[in-house]
Amino acid sequence: MTKALVTGGAGFIGTHICDSLLSDGVAVVCFDNLGSGQRGNVNRFEDDDAYTFVEGDVREPLGQQLNELDTNFDYIYHFASRASPADFKDHALEISQTNTIGTKHVLELAREMDATVVYASTSEVYGDPKEHPQEESYRGNVSIRGPRAPYDEAKRFGETLCTMYTRQFGVDTRTVRIFNTYGPRMRSDDGRVVPTFCVQALQGDDLTVYGEGDQTRSFLFVDDLVRGVRTFAEHDELAGEVINIGHTDETTINEFANTVTRLSPNSIETVYQPLPEDDPTRRRPDITKAKSLLDWEPTIDLETGLKKTLEYFGTEVVNAHP
Ligand code: NAD
Ligand code: UDP
Repeated sequence: MTKALVTGGAGFIGTHICDSLLSDGVAVVCFDNLGSGQRGNVNRFEDDDAYTFVEGDVREPLGQQLNELDTNFDYIYHFASRASPADFKDHALEISQTNTIGTKHVLELAREMDATVVYASTSEVYGDPKEHPQEESYRGNVSIRGPRAPYDEAKRFGETLCTMYTRQFGVDTRTVRIFNTYGPRMRSDDGRVVPTFCVQALQGDDLTVYGEGDQTRSFLFVDDLVRGVRTFAEHDELAGEVINIGHTDETTINEFANTVTRLSPNSIETVYQPLPEDDPTRRRPDITKAKSLLDWEPTIDLETGLKKTLEYFGTEVVNAHP
């Protein structure tokens, strides 16, 4: 039986990765400190014998924390890390250590077990990009001292560690640069634009657009992401590669607010609030590499994905705790 470790498996993307692996008959160990993860994302698998939850922290060596399991992993999906800009100040040290020291601990375990590592990097490594759309070869425009540095600089070094472990020790690592991904099981209060607008819309509150709302993002529905990540992990010849996974439809935050308003059950307004410092002005992936190496492209448009996400927040969050 194939065995996988999913760090950050109690978080939004991690829980969908666990789901997908379990459906394919893979035994899954979810490893998470429940910092930004949700207990409900663990409890949903409690009846599945192929699923084990270990509460732990990647900032400490993993071997000791996983000792009792006495198991070897074929794959490690390293998805642990808070990802919301709202956390970049108060959890700065934790985030930077999770992606640097934490990534080193994951790579050491993989080296010991001869496992394949898939590292969740981010479009943030491109910073406020001067090249558009962003290809994997673009080196980025990141502010090393800026408010997003605990996240984007740490992800950049996390990527460097992966390439070092591949070159120096022959560890099979693959890096996926994820562009804004959304869907059910996001935390309703994590501060990112999708859960924030969904909950505002469902409660009949004003949508809070930061700045003028003309900054852009490319929103990918989580099912498309998981398909891309799994395909990348399982293509033997792609060890050491880095691939962008994201949607190619680029949307301004005003357009995004208009779509949410249209789909909202309530009549709502938009209010404008100050733009956070260093908020990237635009972002869209070049997915030529994903298309050619993985035969992957997004299949779910924003409106379809948003309807599913609104439905989730409606039943699981807003109506569950009115
Ligand atoms: P999330 O906050 O929902 O999930 C992160 C999970 O990691 C949480 O369950 C949290 O408790 C856990 N975690 C954090 N630090 C940990 C630590 N030190 N030890 C153990 N567990 C820890 O965020 P998400 O959106 O699901 O993001 C998952 C991964 O994907 C992250 O690495 C993130 O940087 C990356 N990513 C996400 C997006 C996106 O749009 N959602 C975009 C780019 C990259
Ligand atoms: N944003 C917004 N209102 C909010 C939350 C975010 O207008 O309530 C904006 C934010 O300034 C950014 C975009 O939406 O330009 C995406 O923000 P998010 O935090 O989701 O992710 P980012 O891509 O910035 O990491």
